[in-house]
Amino acid sequence: MKKLKMYINGKWEDPSSGEFRDIINPANGEIIAKAAEGDISDAKKAIAIAREAFDSGIWSDLLAVERAAFLYAIADKLEERAGEISYLETLDNGKPLHETQFDVADAVACFRYYAGMVTKPDGVTYQVPDPMQAMVVREPVGVCGLIVPWNFPLLMSVWKIAPALAAGNTVVFKPSEVTPVTAQCLFEIIEEVGIPAGVINMVMGAGKTVGNEIAESLDVDKVSFTGGTATGRHIMKAATGNIKKISLELGGKSPNIIFADADFEAAIDYALFGIYSGAGQVCSAGSRLLLEESIHDQFIEELVKRAQKIKVGPGHDDETEMGPLVSKGHMEKVLSYIEIGKQEGAKLVCGGSQIMEDGMGAGYFVEPTIFINTTPDMRIVREEIFGPVLVVQKFKDEEEAVRLANDTDYGLAAGVFSQDGAKALRVIKKIRAGITWINCYHPTYNEAPWGGYKQSGIGRGLGTFGYEEFTEVKQININLEVQPTGWFAK
Ligand code: NAD
Repeated sequence: MKKLKMYINGKWEDPSSGEFRDIINPANGEIIAKAAEGDISDAKKAIAIAREAFDSGIWSDLLAVERAAFLYAIADKLEERAGEISYLETLDNGKPLHETQFDVADAVACFRYYAGMVTKPDGVTYQVPDPMQAMVVREPVGVCGLIVPWNFPLLMSVWKIAPALAAGNTVVFKPSEVTPVTAQCLFEIIEEVGIPAGVINMVMGAGKTVGNEIAESLDVDKVSFTGGTATGRHIMKAATGNIKKISLELGGKSPNIIFADADFEAAIDYALFGIYSGAGQVCSAGSRLLLEESIHDQFIEELVKRAQKIKVGPGHDDETEMGPLVSKGHMEKVLSYIEIGKQEGAKLVCGGSQIMEDGMGAGYFVEPTIFINTTPDMRIVREEIFGPVLVVQKFKDEEEAVRLANDTDYGLAAGVFSQDGAKALRVIKKIRAGITWINCYHPTYNEAPWGGYKQSGIGRGLGTFGYEEFTEVKQININLEVQPTGWFAK
């Protein structure tokens, strides 16, 4: 059985507790690895090492081209091992191979994107009164604590690690305790390319211990967190001790709005893709489908027909279109929301159960599920379910579509489908969300900022915005005619 260790100061380490956690294949409930169960003392050790490494300048003082070369080398090695890593990601998280192959390719592209950014201009100058010259330079924030969830284990890690390292920070990284397998591969690569010891460290373990220590520690200058909104709220509080910089990428309950004049077939495809990719365990999932009244019944009829045909199965089967949920506990949470929906009086028109046939009961498979006849106050409409459960809302006109779409505590993503371009743009501009799509759902790029309004987070990942989150801004004022001021006691 593979033992996953922590990576601290360039060495692979057992946890001080000596304990290892079972890592489970969600397709069949079998143990696939044992992961180090780090605790607060391990987190403190890694933080101290990262602090020392940052203060020594061993990383931030490198030439930009040298830091870039390390990132390019990581990208190359990830690419070389893409087949193995996507296989392991599917084993650990459950999603189909074609999804994890896409994630690994995206992770490679992300390292290359930020490798390129290191050597690009990153400051500005200002015209201020003579004889002064003012300019701004960007510097690394310092020690960055990076905490990620289980739904895109490798990709979420890379979205943070690549810009943090590019900007010259040192890192303490914590993978999700549910899915630490591919993090091990990434750190093997980090070791292999020779990033100096101490610059990037990995501590595995629970959020309440390791994660909380990272959020609280006075030696950590910034926390970048992706996960649930409740955890994000906790991290904000824990970060107050040293007024840590925080970036939070949190949950969502995103509306996907289909107008009657939309391309019907495309809208059906993207509605399915919006909710069932990643088995709905995607922060930006189009989990609320808003349908214009006049097409509601016809759309639902076709959508249900298609959803019932989705091939649910183990992620390693070529035929599989949707994999299992990530864990037994999470599956139980999703099933409990389906019960809540029924009790609240919504009408279940598709799925609704765990799949038990063909030995699938040993895994955590849930049918593609659809609820109609909902009201805006229902919990299934308001709360993030994070599973293959689509909740449908009906609207009469543009004004009601916008009102329903914005009637949520979240503001992560939104989609609008209409062949009237002006209407689609008008509606998207009124939606309070950070990631939006017109006539598609889900495509996203390393170049563009990722993050949410309202309780979906603070700050942005990816693109130049994501890089800036890992920098401090310093103004430098230079006097070009040095002479006494004579201001005091002339
Ligand atoms: P989670 O909040 O339970 O855990 C995320 C990470 O935080 C894990 O590593 C966990 O160990 C750690 N953690 C838990 N409690 C902590 C604490 N008290 N202090 C510090 N760290 C702690 O989330 P999850 O269940 O792993 O992931 C699902 C959630 O992530 C969903 O809500 C989803 O919407 C969100 N998510 C958001 C984005 C985004 O970009 N906005 C992307 C992916 C997932």
